[in-house]
Amino acid sequence: MNNNLPTQPESPPSLSSLSRQIDQRRRWLYLIAAFPGFLSVVFIWLQKQNQEVFIRFTYPFLATALAIWCVALLWKRVPLNLIERSVLIATTLFFFSKYIYFLYFHPLLFEQWQEIEAVFWTFAFSFILSYIVFPRGKALQFNLLFLGMVIVAGALRFTDLGEAYTLELVRLETRIAGILFLVFLLAKAKDDLNLSLAEANRIQEIALTDALTLLPNRRGMTGLLEEHLARRRRFAVILADVDFFKRINDTFGHETGDKILREVGECLHYQLRASDVIGRWGGEEFLILALEEDQKRALHLANRLRETVESFEFSDGLPITMSFGVTLSRERDTVKSLLQRADQAMYRAKNNGRNRVEWEIPN
Ligand code: GH3
Ligand code: MG
Ligand code: MG
Repeated sequence: MNNNLPTQPESPPSLSSLSRQIDQRRRWLYLIAAFPGFLSVVFIWLQKQNQEVFIRFTYPFLATALAIWCVALLWKRVPLNLIERSVLIATTLFFFSKYIYFLYFHPLLFEQWQEIEAVFWTFAFSFILSYIVFPRGKALQFNLLFLGMVIVAGALRFTDLGEAYTLELVRLETRIAGILFLVFLLAKAKDDLNLSLAEANRIQEIALTDALTLLPNRRGMTGLLEEHLARRRRFAVILADVDFFKRINDTFGHETGDKILREVGECLHYQLRASDVIGRWGGEEFLILALEEDQKRALHLANRLRETVESFEFSDGLPITMSFGVTLSRERDTVKSLLQRADQAMYRAKNNGRNRVEWEIPN
């Protein structure tokens, strides 16, 4: 468009700034969890390092990792997703090393078999978390690799465990494999659901959008009017029709006509506030729904739109004007009654010479 566009309506916050905000909130939540985590690891290490070899050697690593994550969470240049993935991998490896320690090195393995059970539950937890921090395919690979390590580590120990504990370990491994499969199915179902929801939204958007001007179409505007009426909102309806549009088509061709319609839509749209909505009502008619309760202000808005179109430099320098009919919603209005008044007012504007605004009730 080759004109100086008047003030643009406010745009909603961009998607990237919204995701930055969510990121920031998650960083704080993780920090709230990680810092006490760090303190408790140090505390446990101080208390139990002499009783438990595993704690003596692994907890310093855990504490260091937690401290690094706290710093990384505060340092915004480290991507959050990288932190999440490294936490998942590190904690999974931590519990895997606990599993190895108990299975291979713990002197009282059979007395403390519940530790092996507990560690298997943490594996299930890491399977679930993996779908949060990785895409589905990567999460499955990560989990399968991990399950393979758990099974191999268990199988190499079978001969020393005796029949009862071997069976017990196989039971735990089978259960965790089942959980892996179940979590995968749930993640897939969730992804499929999201996909079909996105597809349904897309189809609905297409059904409610005018393909030429990309504004809401008649169906979209009707839905909006119905919603406003149902909520008993007071608003103004402005019906705007391009004057002598047939001549433009006849003289310059249908394509130029289409271009002009697009420009009319943009030109009107740029004049509106974010709370107002404009749609293509049909042909060369546009409908504006403005949250305006006052006759004077509604007429003022319509006049401003009329002047803007009149002074706008359209393609090929074609002079375009529009006629406007304005009405305010009433208590018992239906879409039909509302539009009838706007239509009558608009036709009066045509009959009274075009390029003008008329109110619902004749003066
Ligand atoms: P008036 O000032 O009385 O409104 O005159 P008008 O010529 O604008 O009104 P009329 O209803 O006689 O003609 C409207 C024209 O709009 C006829 C139709 O071909 C054209 N039109 C409707 N939809 C489209 C469209 O999508 N693209 C194009 N290029 N023209 C369209
Ligand atoms: Mg017309
Ligand atoms: Mg018309």
